[in-house]
Amino acid sequence: MEILNPYARTGEWLRGSFHNHTTNSDGWFPLETVYKMYGGYDFLGISDHDKVTKHEGEREIPTVFEAIEVSSRQTHMLLVKPPLSLMENYSNVFTIENYQRFVNMTDDNGGFAVLVHPNRYFSNYWNLDDMLKMDNVLGIEVYNGDGNPEYDIAFDKWDALLSAGRKVWGFGNDDSHVYGQEKRAWNMVMAKENSEEEILESIKSGNFYVSTGYGFDAIRVEDNAIVVDLRSNELLDKMYKYVTFFGKDGRVLQETTGRISQAKYQCKGDEQYVRVAAYLEGGYAAFSQPLFVGKPL
Ligand SMILES: [Zn+2]
Ligand SMILES: [Zn+2]
Repeated sequence: MEILNPYARTGEWLRGSFHNHTTNSDGWFPLETVYKMYGGYDFLGISDHDKVTKHEGEREIPTVFEAIEVSSRQTHMLLVKPPLSLMENYSNVFTIENYQRFVNMTDDNGGFAVLVHPNRYFSNYWNLDDMLKMDNVLGIEVYNGDGNPEYDIAFDKWDALLSAGRKVWGFGNDDSHVYGQEKRAWNMVMAKENSEEEILESIKSGNFYVSTGYGFDAIRVEDNAIVVDLRSNELLDKMYKYVTFFGKDGRVLQETTGRISQAKYQCKGDEQYVRVAAYLEGGYAAFSQPLFVGKPL
């Protein structure tokens, strides 16, 4: 049995978000205030609607990413590290062809594309059929911090895409516009060092997880078992944990609970993929990327 573990690469955990707005589109705060709101972050992306905000001015965040949120009336798509040429004859009109062209241009530039808030049914969302038509997309936003529990999570669409054989990573971002939306959901990236290059490499290989407060120390594969080392210390070890292993079609493969610091799932070989959600008593959560299970490719 082959289990593809995106967490095999070692380094340090870095915290950051790729999808946030400024006054350059419909955010409430200018860039320098947004930098301050995200004090303590290791990296930050600014993704205004239909425009690339240049990083300038004083900031303490070590690594920053230029990004854009392509914002048609139907769907929104985040492009991290788009090329300058993207803005030539720019149109946000949603056709698969137009969006796909942006995805490919960004990919050629070393960046990546994420389909964002796919379940925001009251405004801009993605039909599963359209998501399936998109190629070369690195991931989808499974957790958007906007603040609507019904609309800001998209684990159903993630499982649908993964079950259809798409290799897409799950992202967590604040999509911050207004006061109070900062630091709700983020990505923890395992990188050798805090640099644009290293973060991009880890993101592309899936060596990151989504957090709303809890975390993983490591996710390992040992003898066809997935071993999850939960974030652990003397204080956290006293708290109750809920760990769920999900497989194809969102099927629950195993639930492990208790005042634990580790959970282990023995793969059978027919899972297609296994992803892990871990909750700490109090509601803080961490969501792993899928580990693909199957015959060697
Ligand atoms: Zn949006
Ligand atoms: Zn947004």
